[in-house]
Amino acid sequence: MVGSGPLGDAVPVVEPELVDVVVVGLGVGGEEVAGRLAEAGLSVVGVERDLVGGECPYWGCIPSKMMIRAANALAEARRVDGLAGTAQVQPDWAPVAKRIREEATDTWDDTVAVRRLTDRGARFVRGSGRLDGPGRVRVGDQVFQARHGIVLGTGTRPSVPPIEGLADTPYWTNHQAIEVEQLPESLLVLGGGAIGLELSQVFARFGVRVTVVEALDRVLAIEEPEASEVAATALRADGVEIHTGVRAERIEHDGSRFTLHGGGGADFTADRLLVVTGRRAHLDELGLDTVGVDAAQRYLPVDDRLHVSDGIWAVGDVTGEGAFTHISMYQAGIVIADVLANARQANAGPDASGTASVVGGAMGAASSLGASGSSGSAGSVPRADYRALPRVTFTDPEVGAVGLTEQQARQRGINVQVGFTKLGSSTRGWIHRVGDEGFIKLIADADQGVLIGATSVGPAGGEVLSALVVAVHAAVPLSQLRHMIYAYPTFHRAIEDALRNLS
Ligand SMILES: Cc1cc2nc3c(=O)[nH]c(=O)nc-3n(C[C@H](O)[C@H](O)[C@H](O)COP(=O)(O)OP(=O)(O)OC[C@H]3O[C@@H](n4cnc5c(N)ncnc54)[C@H](O)[C@@H]3O)c2cc1C
Repeated sequence: MVGSGPLGDAVPVVEPELVDVVVVGLGVGGEEVAGRLAEAGLSVVGVERDLVGGECPYWGCIPSKMMIRAANALAEARRVDGLAGTAQVQPDWAPVAKRIREEATDTWDDTVAVRRLTDRGARFVRGSGRLDGPGRVRVGDQVFQARHGIVLGTGTRPSVPPIEGLADTPYWTNHQAIEVEQLPESLLVLGGGAIGLELSQVFARFGVRVTVVEALDRVLAIEEPEASEVAATALRADGVEIHTGVRAERIEHDGSRFTLHGGGGADFTADRLLVVTGRRAHLDELGLDTVGVDAAQRYLPVDDRLHVSDGIWAVGDVTGEGAFTHISMYQAGIVIADVLANARQANAGPDASGTASVVGGAMGAASSLGASGSSGSAGSVPRADYRALPRVTFTDPEVGAVGLTEQQARQRGINVQVGFTKLGSSTRGWIHRVGDEGFIKLIADADQGVLIGATSVGPAGGEVLSALVVAVHAAVPLSQLRHMIYAYPTFHRAIEDALRNLS
């Protein structure tokens, strides 16, 4: 028997299989939700069309940080001169490519990840999942009816701008940049955001001639202007050419080289072109119309418990709350707790049976999950709170930031105080000498007497950030921060100087 699909195509009508939960998209967030709910005793179907684990382990955080680790080792060796004698460095990409292939990605094979998921008790289905009416998910010929909910963790894909000629060229996205075995001689990078800068610095340190073209007037435009300046200076010192305020108008590929024609007659050529101009969710593929949700949106709007609509939750990049693995994992904790709470409630009738006892037993575990909300009372489901969202750009120096920038705070009409200090003027920065570029910038709400944002740039900028995240998250009074003891001579001791400079 066949029915009619959303595009008028023939869709086989099959009897849905009843399960507790269906998770569509098994990136970091989806895999965590599917695994934890299965461990809690629910019958869970996890659907993934590509690789279980998603972007982060195969084409994102992990392999890019392996590249950065290697590139930073080269940079440190080059800093021996003047500090500890002389050193000669011979960069070789082969061990980096091998490590990514063998240690990070199993040559882009998810056998181990699938086993990790099924060992936790979830059932795995390979394919594209799509909503097929309330509570239902279709994967090819299979249809699942979810008793307790559907979780969408379908992530994003690279957003490629509609620049004339670009679509017909063999441009790279982060996928080809991560999979590269032989480095090109020259590389054009379209986009000066976090991913563009991280990869540019890596490739430059391995000898590639890198040119970054950014349409906005500065790189890392979402961070503090001082951070953009330090990052741009550091990359230029590594030989990266940076052109800001240049809008790419046309791209050509002559069979071997790319030419990017920018506004005002600026032309750039290179062997390869890497497009890193943001990410986009593809909501039109999810069958949202079958459950009354508008698919013509940039992201899936969610409430503070990650509800999209009745019985549907979303997790990760698809929610648009921050494209970070830690956001996806944080949201996963909330979704797990909420699904379990709902399942327990649904099963709590006088003749409760089936999953009720298992789910009830799992609630202790759910309430101790990583997601810490502001509601706080025992057994309650935490609510998402992004005030202290940390973000780190792993350039050298690292750019760590949390909460609001100065501009964002002023736009909200907050009575802002700013504290700033350069790392080089701290004892540790002075000792460190070469490679000590950086600063601490604090944004305080003068009326509340608390920090609402901070930026930490430096050799360990992402690690120093943790103290500032605690301060913003817990709204620690400035008076308390001023009377803390900061270990001498650490980089984080510069926070004390920045606090002293708040005005
Ligand atoms: C180069 C790079 C470096 C990064 N570095 C960092 C970093 O250092 N720190 C950090 O926090 N973040 C980093 N990120 C971001 C991080 O990778 C993402 O935030 C994270 O992967 C998002 O996870 P997610 O749960 O949304 O799922 P994703 O990883 O986006 O995975 C979603 C999955 O859903 C699948 N899918 C989609 N639609 C369907 C469907 N209809 N049916 C079945 N399956 C479907 C996809 O195949 C995919 O596997 C980086 C990203 C990139 C590209």
